[in-house]
Amino acid sequence: MTSKDYIELEDKHGAHNYHPIEVVIDKGKGVWVWDVEGKKYLDFLSAYSAVNQGHCHPKIVNALTEQAQKRTLTSRAFYNSVLGEYEKFITEYFGYDKVLPMNTGVEGDETAFKLARKWAYSVKGIPENKAKIIFCEGNFHGRTMMAVSASNDPDCKEGYGPYLPGIEMIPFNNIPALEKALEDPNVAAFLVEPIQGEAGVVVPDEGYLKKAYDLCKRNNVLFIADEVQTGLCRTGKMLACDYENVRPDILILGKALSGGVIPVSAVLANDKIMLTIKPGQHGSTFGGNPLAGKVAIAALKVLKEENLAENAEWLGNYFREGMQKIVEELNIVTLVRGKGLLNAIVIKPTQTGKTAWDVCVEFKENGLLAKPTHGDIIRFAPPLVITKDEIDWALNTIRNVLIKFEERNIPVKA
Ligand code: PLP
Repeated sequence: MTSKDYIELEDKHGAHNYHPIEVVIDKGKGVWVWDVEGKKYLDFLSAYSAVNQGHCHPKIVNALTEQAQKRTLTSRAFYNSVLGEYEKFITEYFGYDKVLPMNTGVEGDETAFKLARKWAYSVKGIPENKAKIIFCEGNFHGRTMMAVSASNDPDCKEGYGPYLPGIEMIPFNNIPALEKALEDPNVAAFLVEPIQGEAGVVVPDEGYLKKAYDLCKRNNVLFIADEVQTGLCRTGKMLACDYENVRPDILILGKALSGGVIPVSAVLANDKIMLTIKPGQHGSTFGGNPLAGKVAIAALKVLKEENLAENAEWLGNYFREGMQKIVEELNIVTLVRGKGLLNAIVIKPTQTGKTAWDVCVEFKENGLLAKPTHGDIIRFAPPLVITKDEIDWALNTIRNVLIKFEERNIPVKA
């Protein structure tokens, strides 16, 4: 079968809820992937930051295959001989009393949301059904009804009403707006991404997270960090919150917690918060399965053993410096922004009506895989095991593609 055949097969039998770039990936190793025709590409998206440790990392795959032959699932109806080991490992790793294991990122957010409501009623003393959670405009927390209720992106949201109550939206990176929202004594929590990934890698001002955290403390409000995309070394530190020495009351992790091998997410908090959920009040058949436990331990060990935070930090700086020169040289690209290896560029509209999508198609033709977000933005997030030579190759490819693109598509004047 050719790539065209595989695309037709998906189109015919699968729901049309995605619009993928037309490349059919067959295998991956480290930072590289190959399509079904055998053409090689540099992965500059990492499955939206799930493959931080590189594709098919041998230590993570070994943990998976070893455990898969022994036992994959017991459900939480019984104890299993891996879960406690995993829970001890991850809580010590991040310095929290307890973990609540889930599977996908959005389940992590959903769990944190429910946990904050439980805490609001049983500890803070908010009257029943009055708890409010504050979110930021431009956020992305996934696709459940809680996440779309908290979203202001029309693509995510429209046509799914009625939405969940008890949600208030304020502008991102705006301390006065948070201060005002926190005047309401029924606010239970502020749930925020330290950097808004899906919105196009929007980095808040330095000090924003710390000020937001301090305001939450002053008002007895939980500070919840969604580090599903920014966490696990992506931005150059273990957590993006580490840049401002903020320790969230509730921390949500996902994606790279399994190195992109299976869905593993986690919610971490101290006893005072976590123990407000009692037996039977929340859970998941697959959450905390032994396969996930072994895979997550291996994935977390790789982050430290291979110094992936340091690699992301220095190669991120190096990439942005290189990219900045391209921004200054060409008209088609207006800016580069980001932290560590979570970066984005903004493409100018062209007189020919071509967009960031067309640029990504040309990147693909030239062996580099990236995806646009919100029309004019392209996110660059390679696996963190990338080397300087590979970053040089990427910069060169990006520059050559943009030069040729600009020759054929004159940007509209700003
Ligand atoms: N939270 C953030 C910040 C994300 O970026 C994402 C996915 O991109 C999610 C939550 C949802 O994760 P999942 O797709 O695994 O449910």
